[in-house]
Amino acid sequence: MRKIVFLDRDGTICEDSDYLDDFRKMKIFSFSYDALAIIKNKGYEIYVITNQSGVAKGKFSLEEAENQKKFVLAYFNREKKLIEDYLYCPHHKEGVVEKFSFECNCRKPKTGMIEKINTLSEIDRKNSYVVGDKLIDIELAVNLGVNPVLVLTGYGNEEQKKIMEKDYNVLIFNNLLDFANSII
Ligand SMILES: [Mg+2]
Ligand SMILES: [Zn+2]
Repeated sequence: MRKIVFLDRDGTICEDSDYLDDFRKMKIFSFSYDALAIIKNKGYEIYVITNQSGVAKGKFSLEEAENQKKFVLAYFNREKKLIEDYLYCPHHKEGVVEKFSFECNCRKPKTGMIEKINTLSEIDRKNSYVVGDKLIDIELAVNLGVNPVLVLTGYGNEEQKKIMEKDYNVLIFNNLLDFANSII
């Protein structure tokens, strides 16, 4: 069984810049590298799982989304491989770019991106987490049956109220580094 931490990107490992359209402008939080190194050292596999509907909405190209992926992987995997893989959903049912505008089954909180890495039956659910700053991340965790974690960076503060109204058993941390330090 595999212990896995699924990480949201925007608002969790970097600032949420609302449809970032140039990977060179991505602002990765200063603590994120250390946080991922700690998580990895504790024996977890790390995957980034991110909705990038800006592609469907015509805010940036698929090529740019690929560049952002490469940038994140290069940043975190520069010394050792901290991130196993980075998956993103470019779709949105109300997009403007026809090719990407439909109701997909990979957009969080759906589990399609994770099914792609084909680990569903192997996940050690008790010891795995989805960490993010939005309700959709919490609901992804619920849909997978793993522990939901809210960080208060990004939209975390704003989303907290909405999340607390639901009866999910959510762990809350100020940021990803606090989460990394707290898990066993
Ligand atoms: Mg987010
Ligand atoms: Zn999708």
